[in-house]
This record gives sequence, structure tokens and C-alpha cells, in this order.
Amino acid sequence: MYLGIDIGSTTSKCALISQEGELLALSLVVGGIGTGGPEEALAKVLEEAGASREQIIAVAATGYGRASWTDSDYQVSELTCHGIGGRFVFPELRTLIDIGGQDAKVVALNEDGTMAEFLMNDKCAAGTGRFLDVMANILRLDIDSLGEEALSAQEHARISSTCTVFAESEVISQLAKGVERKAIVAGICDSVAARTATLAKRIGIKEPVCMSGGVARNSGVRAALEKALGVSLLYSPQCQHFGAIGAAIYAMRKTKKATN
Ligand code: ADP
Repeated sequence: MYLGIDIGSTTSKCALISQEGELLALSLVVGGIGTGGPEEALAKVLEEAGASREQIIAVAATGYGRASWTDSDYQVSELTCHGIGGRFVFPELRTLIDIGGQDAKVVALNEDGTMAEFLMNDKCAAGTGRFLDVMANILRLDIDSLGEEALSAQEHARISSTCTVFAESEVISQLAKGVERKAIVAGICDSVAARTATLAKRIGIKEPVCMSGGVARNSGVRAALEKALGVSLLYSPQCQHFGAIGAAIYAMRKTKKATN
């Protein structure tokens, strides 16, 4: 079997695939680079698959913390891995929008699945998972309830600040004015979607399109992004694992090529 490990800024994800490239198990642990998260994620995926470390033929590491994983045969960029993982789940995929804990990327894929172009925002927390984490914290909501809260809102508050720190003050002042919490959450999701849509429009959208990364699990952001881009987004519950799945497939392909 082959292992893909995606060590992110906030979470660690693993994917195990068989010799034939079938998905065997996935794991996710909150705790990314510089924490015990990666080791825990590995232990979890092995347990899930009922497998041992010795059965792993090759490992590919990806994500922000990929260089910190010394036990890898390959280190691969997240862009490549998300592209491969996205195509594994959606074989016709042409555009992938990945929003993680600290950056957002738009990847355009050619018809054969190779990467055509990409754009990235890694300079600013606004438009990333970090922005949503900060806002969830102020609103005393769990990160996984933001989506439903946003979708239940009739009105959307306008969050106009493009900086996380200013947006935080704006949210606090809206709360003080008595604006409904769900309207604020909807406005927060709109704000992330608007920034991502600007990035996506610069690269040009070709359908089918999907989101990946942890923020793809937020149905409020997905709905706001569909509206901002005017396209339907494909969704998979494995969206946060596309990088790890892509890394496992990468390890398999490279190993098979080297031994053929
Ligand atoms: P990284 O790879 O940089 O660690 P991820 O792709 O794992 O990042 O995404 C982490 C982000 O995903 C978090 O900052 C959070 O905003 C969001 N997130 C994580 N879990 C959920 C969830 N259950 N529902 C909605 N959003 C989530």
C-alpha cells in the first residue's frame, strides 16, 4: 500500500491506497506542522485500515509542513496533489478551488488532468480558513456550524473590511448594534467567497469546478461562491483529503514508474 500525508498549517491528513490504487482509509487530526498531529494521523489511518507501517511501500508528503516529515520517499507540492486527488474523485474536473487554514489557491487543469495554471493568496488571512476560525471564535460558534448558520439567514450583513483584524472589529460592532448572528455569519461567508471569486475569475473558470481543503466543508462558503461565480460546485465529503489522496497516488505512480 501507498501513503499520502498532507501536513497543513492547522490539520494533518493521511490517505492509504492499495497497490491497485483503491482508497483504503483516510484520517484527519487537528494539529499541523510542528505538532504531534502528523504522527497521530498516521497511527489513525493505519488503525482504520488494519495495517502496519511495514506494509507501506512508499510515502509522499505534501502540504506546508511536508519538509518536516523525514520518513518520506517523495515531497510534492499541494497544487500537484490537490489536482491529482481532485481528479481521482471527479475524473472530469477542470478547476479546483482549494481553501485551507492559511491560504487559498485556484488550480486550472488541462483536459488530461495536468496543471495548466494556478493562482494563490498566501499573503493575507482574509479569504482563508484562518479568517473563518477567528470569526467563529468571536461569535462563539463551532467551525462546523458556520455553514448551516449562514444558510439559515434571510438577510446577509455586509462585511466590508478586507483585513481580518478590521473585519473582526466590524463583526463586533454589528453584534453591538443587534444584527442577527446568522446574518453576520452569512456576511462572513460572502466575504471569503468574494475574495476567492476574484482569484478564480483572474484565472478563468472552466467547468466542472470543485472546492477542496477544510473550508470546502463550509456549506455557507460553497453557496456564496456558487453565487459569486455563477457556477455549480461539485462537492465531496473527502474534500479536505484531496491533498493526501493525491500524494498517495503520486507515490504509487512514481514507484511503479521506477520499478518498470
Ligand atoms: P491546512 O491544510 O492548511 O491545515 P485545511 O485544508 O485542513 O488546512 O483547512 C483548515 C480550515 O478548514 C480551518 O481553518 C477551518 O476554517 C476549516 N474547517 C475545518 N473543519 C471544518 C468543518 N468541519 N466545517 C467547516 N470548516 C472547517
